[in-house]
Amino acid sequence: MARIKIDYGIDLGTTNSAICCMNRGEVVTIKSDLGHDIMPSCVSFNKKKSSLVGQTAYNSLAKDKRRATHTWRADVSNTFVEFKRKMGTNETYHSANMGADLPPEQLSAEVLKTLKSFVLDENVTAAIITVPAKFLQSQKDATMRAAKLAGIQHCELLQEPIAASMAYGLTGAEKDGLWLVFDFGGGTFDAALVRTQDGVMQIFDTEGDNYLGGKNLDEAIVDRIIIPYLMENYVIDSIMADPDKKQVLREAMKTFAEEAKKQLSFKPSHDILSDIGDLGCDDEGEELELDLTVTQDQLKEVFAPIFNRAISICHNLLKRNNLSGTDLSKVILVGGPTHSPILRQMLREQLSPNVDTSVDPMTVVATGAALYASTIDSKVDQQIEQGVVRLHLEYESTSVETTEFVTVKLEPGQPLSSVQVVITRADNAWASPKQSIDQQGEVIDVELAEGKSNAFTITVYDAQGNTLPCFPNEISIIQGTAVGRAPLAYNVGIEKWDEETQRGIFVPAKGLEKNKPLPATGTINNLKTTNTIRPGMASDQIRIPIYEADAFEGKERAAYFTLVYELFITGDDVQQLIPAGSPVDLTIRVQDSGWQVSAYFPSIELQIDDLEVPTHTTQSITPQQLATEIAKGRMAIQKMQRQGADVAEVDESLNQVQTELNNGAENHQVLTHLREALRKIDKAEQNTEWPRLEKHLRSLFAELEEDNQKYGNSETTQQVEQFRAQVDDVIRRKDIPTGKVLADQIGAFDFQLARIEYYVIWLRDWHNRFDTLRWSNPTQARNLINQGLTLLQARADADQLSGLIRQIINLLPSNSVPQGAEGLLQ
Ligand code: ADP
Ligand code: MG
Repeated sequence: MARIKIDYGIDLGTTNSAICCMNRGEVVTIKSDLGHDIMPSCVSFNKKKSSLVGQTAYNSLAKDKRRATHTWRADVSNTFVEFKRKMGTNETYHSANMGADLPPEQLSAEVLKTLKSFVLDENVTAAIITVPAKFLQSQKDATMRAAKLAGIQHCELLQEPIAASMAYGLTGAEKDGLWLVFDFGGGTFDAALVRTQDGVMQIFDTEGDNYLGGKNLDEAIVDRIIIPYLMENYVIDSIMADPDKKQVLREAMKTFAEEAKKQLSFKPSHDILSDIGDLGCDDEGEELELDLTVTQDQLKEVFAPIFNRAISICHNLLKRNNLSGTDLSKVILVGGPTHSPILRQMLREQLSPNVDTSVDPMTVVATGAALYASTIDSKVDQQIEQGVVRLHLEYESTSVETTEFVTVKLEPGQPLSSVQVVITRADNAWASPKQSIDQQGEVIDVELAEGKSNAFTITVYDAQGNTLPCFPNEISIIQGTAVGRAPLAYNVGIEKWDEETQRGIFVPAKGLEKNKPLPATGTINNLKTTNTIRPGMASDQIRIPIYEADAFEGKERAAYFTLVYELFITGDDVQQLIPAGSPVDLTIRVQDSGWQVSAYFPSIELQIDDLEVPTHTTQSITPQQLATEIAKGRMAIQKMQRQGADVAEVDESLNQVQTELNNGAENHQVLTHLREALRKIDKAEQNTEWPRLEKHLRSLFAELEEDNQKYGNSETTQQVEQFRAQVDDVIRRKDIPTGKVLADQIGAFDFQLARIEYYVIWLRDWHNRFDTLRWSNPTQARNLINQGLTLLQARADADQLSGLIRQIINLLPSNSVPQGAEGLLQ
């Protein structure tokens, strides 16, 4: 079947994936080989090097985990999960069976290929793939590569919360509203605020936690219900005392916990029962068996703290947008754990009564993706059979009106020069009159049913009234909802060395602020090159590190954010010399299809367009590197401690990171939390630095005011008032870097102002001791001193006097020149 629209939507999830298709105005969830709506994003390789993907792989992984309790050793696995987390990084997965290190996009491609294989009558060559709203550009790039590897020639990305909202937008009558998409997945939580105005949907803010999801619920059941049960009924002390064995036990128990969690979404209680031979033995050789009942009440106690974390993220998100739960017209539930009646009740009580559960939370994202897919033209060349009448159609695939105009033309180069066309709505409630069409084309008004996807069949007749096959023979138009342009998920900027703070700081690009609609262009002007670039010298390099930052305050270290691209300008790129210290203006254009970066060197009028944007950048970090960074943080804390600062809180945050690292948490998770701790340390450092600087600024300014009263004039008073405003502003903002610069400026100005004080002292002294000094020309000296005294009486300023003073000093022997005179006579 040839398609003019993409029509396929894929939710490529961390834990589960799904594929849906738009057929005749209806979204169809395509069943897996096992008849399920979703498939675990799990890939396994056997010794014959063939891959096993989905539920079967997931089941065998669970079996392996249980079997590991027989030896208390975890086997090297050839089964991989959660590789979506590593998309866009250079980390790989080692498969012994494959004898290879596999990049995450290759594993994702296996998932995509398997999803495609569930479509039996068609080869899927175009698809919309959904990604989290907070995916970094490097993660999106990797998703596009996975699509290519899976033979999806035309792939476009859609944000998961928008996809979910699309699915809801069509079922509800409401066209304007503020929705919160609550996506609690297997290992991630994402909250997104989506606004629909006049049917156009747009995300306007997001927040989340990359380490909060269904997994935490499973772990809580293990640690708080199952392990206490085992401790009561078996002797597992030595297992629990050995971190490796304990991990094997917990992993095995998680498979039971997950099952119980799912069952308890639909039943009041569940019996956790293991099969004979499932598990190994306890310290005394007795075979472990599970036979316990878990109730809703027990579950509620265990789950509530975890769900509360997600709810509090939503409250923060609302608060920073000056909203509250009552402003939400809908809370849309996405993700497996949102089946839980415990969560649903908590959400209704604590967030909003308008929790909508009308679309299945496991397939809502893929459903919305398919709806969106039905509005996007497929760019894959269509194979159209001989004898099929080819039409050219132009129309808007989404509309907020109830009538839409479809322009229908006959493509040139066909046997018939005109045909008759009828457009019929799939529900048969409306059809157009028969209309004659030629290459010039005609406009046919079609009537849309409100709030849904409208499918239309196109029928072509020849002059004799025979129907002829045509392409396209079907179109669909969504009434009521359109997707607005995707916003930028992060602030984009670069790292730049800052003299003031002696740090590589994040400098945002103007025009690439978070939530700007894409495509967007940003600029960073007045950068300077640090070294010379000689034409043809590949080893001469200018490095341009581009970062994505969620939120930043003032001058923050770029290292706290994510390096997404590292660009280089080398001698190979230029035909002329770029001297060190040349000014550079950077322009970054961000669009879905990729980024374009150009550099302009105004002093040599050199423009370099389309710098190469690499594919892999996000670097993975090792536990050793993490340990070093933690140690550096600790040193900073100790320094503050010696200065008498209260650092208990930052110390505690860093200790938590250390504990995570010790417990073998995922490196990236440790890194995320380490960055949070280091930012707190930086703030604390600023806080201890600030009071000193504030005091200094205040006393400098007081001195300046005093000197100005004594020696100032209307001009200097104006400058002093300007300083007053600046000091007030800096103090209000506790802006350390600007404060330091300001202190220097006030000091220099005051010095200029107060130097007259010295001139007065000197003149009086020379006058009083005139005869005791050995002037080289006493007459001239006398003259000059008298002039000086007269000027003083006339309230002359320092600039007017300094020339005169210099002349007098020149008449003095060097041993009589006042100390420091040189510095005071500028
Ligand atoms: P992801 O977006 O990460 O791919 P999913 O939305 O597929 O994640 O959610 C996966 C999580 O949902 C897993 O932790 C799984 O145990 C959990 N889950 C699946 N079905 C249910 C259910 N009926 N009740 C509670 N949790 C469920
Ligand atoms: Mg998901």
